[in-house]
Amino acid sequence: MNINILDDRQSDALRQLINDAEHIVICCHQNPDGDALGSSLGLADYLRSLGKMVLVTVPNMFPDFLRWLPGTERIMRYDKYPSVVREQCEKADLIFCLDFNTLERIDRLGETVGASKAKRILIDHHPGPNIETAMTISYPEMSSTCELVFRVLWQLGAFPQISRQGATHLYCGMMTDTGGFTYNSNNPEIFFIISQLLTKGIDKDKIYRNVYNNYSESRLRLMGYVMYEKLRYFPEKHASYFTIDRDDFRRFHFIKGDAEGLVNIPLQIKGTVLSISLREDSEQDNLIWVSLRSVDNTNCTEIARRFFNGGGHINASGGRLYCSMEEAEKIAREAIASL
Ligand code: 5GP
Ligand code: MN
Repeated sequence: MNINILDDRQSDALRQLINDAEHIVICCHQNPDGDALGSSLGLADYLRSLGKMVLVTVPNMFPDFLRWLPGTERIMRYDKYPSVVREQCEKADLIFCLDFNTLERIDRLGETVGASKAKRILIDHHPGPNIETAMTISYPEMSSTCELVFRVLWQLGAFPQISRQGATHLYCGMMTDTGGFTYNSNNPEIFFIISQLLTKGIDKDKIYRNVYNNYSESRLRLMGYVMYEKLRYFPEKHASYFTIDRDDFRRFHFIKGDAEGLVNIPLQIKGTVLSISLREDSEQDNLIWVSLRSVDNTNCTEIARRFFNGGGHINASGGRLYCSMEEAEKIAREAIASL
């Protein structure tokens, strides 16, 4: 099966850029998810096997349920250690931008990445890449950035160097960005890639359990509570929204990542086309994080752009609102009414 995506000129140029680099920084988007972390750690694993000095940096904290990924302890948070990251970006020959399309998606880290003299390489699957780079590898039709990283390494002839650990990272991101291969995952090449990753000895069943069966008791109760008490369903539109606020955080001992996946659950209602989650920020007033999921041709990206200052993919998008929860609920109802 031919899973190559670069032309010969691009793959030669990429090989050269990596060869010439000694210090490499890899960064991914704010509130990193499984794909952002998996692609960053998977690529780092390979580059380190070549003897490169690699720093993986993230704009802020990642969810607790991804902490088991090998190598997360070496990740440098920009919000905690900005000067160290700045120093590394100044020293870097190459910066990989993974799983995001504009520098705004990496928050304050964007200023540092933008100011660095290092050559930038973007590998991403969000539409509309808008970062000045030496090379942009952007394929919105791909399931995940991890899939893209695999294809690129495969094309560079680097498959033999991918370790079991690196394969675990890449599988994890492919799995999480497709909801455990339940959406955006009909391309047979995805399963060719998985078959190759399995030859590295990954335990895909364990990776699934590590991600999806790894919650606290209180997170499970939060899920039950939100679906029972907080879900507003609009049967005539086949759409719903729910809210999670700071009182809920306290009551259910909320930790980062506990809200992840909740937005998918209302899609289980027969015929549903859209689910919206509105989550109050744990610290900042009047900041509501929005997640959207849709089915088939209902386009969340458009809804995220029009109503929630965001974007993403056709069936999975996000955004944010700078207002009270009451106002956010009003906007969610308007978004649903527009369907
Ligand atoms: P989630 O709901 O899991 O936070 O995000 C779903 C998808 O939408 C992810 O692919 C994420 O990268 C994207 N996304 C989330 N927030 C934003 C945003 O503010 N802007 C854009 N362009 N994409 C977003
Ligand atoms: Mn992704």
